[in-house]
Amino acid sequence: MSSDTPLQLIVSSPSGAGKTTLTNRLLQQVQNLRFSVSHTTRSPRENELDGREYHFVTRAAFEALIQAGAFLEWAEVHGNLYGTSRQEIERSRGARGIIFDIDHQGARQIKSSSPDAVAVFILPPSMQVLEQRLRGRRSEDESTVLRRFRAALEEIAHYGLFDYVLVNDDLDEATTQLISIFLAEECRRGRASRRAERLLAEGRGYGGVLPPKKT
Ligand code: ADP
Ligand code: 5GP
Repeated sequence: MSSDTPLQLIVSSPSGAGKTTLTNRLLQQVQNLRFSVSHTTRSPRENELDGREYHFVTRAAFEALIQAGAFLEWAEVHGNLYGTSRQEIERSRGARGIIFDIDHQGARQIKSSSPDAVAVFILPPSMQVLEQRLRGRRSEDESTVLRRFRAALEEIAHYGLFDYVLVNDDLDEATTQLISIFLAEECRRGRASRRAERLLAEGRGYGGVLPPKKT
């Protein structure tokens, strides 16, 4: 682990709990973060652009990418295929962090290949509020809303896999919590050690003597 490697932050939640809203706020408020743009076989929503929210592909194209070993992780979620391409990691070089909006199956795969990745699970304040948010988004038909609501319990059952669990009740408070997690994780000794070692090397270069004062 080095301070030059982007911090990998996984954000998961049941559909409608607010992870897109919270990750967008994190991306706006912390500079030089990259959002990992996944591939998916689901259709774009009205406000989604190919290459921005997702790379929208056919099932055949997705399966060809699996065969080619293009994915770091992939999973079937709500009847569609979703995956993180290895290219996304390449593209994040030099960034401060990379944010993965993925489900618990993807979180488990990334955690097993990158144990330093930090995983955050977002809970809704109640199941009733979750239902309201799913319907309030107005981006899916009734059968999709019902399917996603039913899948929520299965998703929540995996909260034990995550390093942090936050409740998205008040949006500003939940945003502060997510940003705080990122900023605190950046300061972990393992990530900051390279910086400390550089200072030690610089100090030793003085041989214990201060350089002459510049006039
Ligand atoms: P997810 O990405 O987890 O499926 P979204 O971020 O799309 O969820 O949020 C679902 C809906 O809930 C959106 O309409 C969003 O504006 C709304 N929402 C998110 N967080 C809050 C919150 N703290 N309070 C009220 N509404 C919220
Ligand atoms: P949505 O269709 O609402 O955008 O996403 C549905 C679910 O798929 C969410 O739980 C989201 O986190 C998950 N998801 C999105 N991209 C990926 C991915 O690349 N891999 C995995 N495993 N899950 C993903």
